[in-house]
Amino acid sequence: MSSFQLVGRKHRPEDTVIAMDGCRIGGQQLTVIAGPCAVEGEEQMLALARELKGMGVHILRGGAYKPRTSPYSFQGLGEEGLRILAAAREYTGLPVITEVTDARYMEKVCHYADIIQIGSRNMQNFTLLREAGRCGRPVLLKRGFAATIEEWLLAAEYILNEGNEQVILCERGIRTFETFTRNTLDINAVAAVKELSHLPVIVDPSHGTGRRSLVGPVSRAAVAAGADGLMLEVHQDPDRALSDGKQSLTPAQFAVLMDELRSLAGALGRRL
Ligand code: PEP
Ligand code: MN
Repeated sequence: MSSFQLVGRKHRPEDTVIAMDGCRIGGQQLTVIAGPCAVEGEEQMLALARELKGMGVHILRGGAYKPRTSPYSFQGLGEEGLRILAAAREYTGLPVITEVTDARYMEKVCHYADIIQIGSRNMQNFTLLREAGRCGRPVLLKRGFAATIEEWLLAAEYILNEGNEQVILCERGIRTFETFTRNTLDINAVAAVKELSHLPVIVDPSHGTGRRSLVGPVSRAAVAAGADGLMLEVHQDPDRALSDGKQSLTPAQFAVLMDELRSLAGALGRRL
């Protein structure tokens, strides 16, 4: 674990706080990132974005390039999705995050998005990590679903090593023998990474559980374990979502969770 030259607490003992236009990630702040798994259309995105802003969300999410298991599943709207996300930012004033799946798309994604997401399947795409290190935007690095904590932190090290210290780690569950849930959210990793690294840690209970009914309880557990925020999938009509409907909350369910998180944040001495 001595190879964490830049991501380690030895290099920087105090927590890294990423300051963006109108929001901060890390420190006292609890940051909530929410939105659909995929951008499906302009009307959908703008209406949901407005609702989420009203509920206190800090950052909007929405995939434009979707890394789907099957080539026959909805692949995302591509650049049109990016344009819609940027329109949602104009409309709400909230920063937007979206996934970049290939180094060739980096410039285009950076043109539209405020934060770059590197997905679980690309955690060890070293070309992409290096590009992200040079892109000049904050990067949210999801843990590979079969990656150890050490491999995850070393992947982050690639980004910092290119000169970009604005990295957010995201625990999104790992693959275990369990099949009832889509993944097994690794709460241990949240506490472990907070101990090892100064980087902010966000938890994604949507992909971590794969089940809407478990998203609330696991979100609360993540915050209690010391996460600096959450990434949550929300959809107006989850049963008709083009991806990840089973794990998406309705806006009404999300509003209840936000209220619960507010009381929890108060009890933990954090701001939401
Ligand atoms: C996502 O955030 O929609 C996503 C594809 O996540 P992950 O890379 O964690 O599977
Ligand atoms: Mn998803």
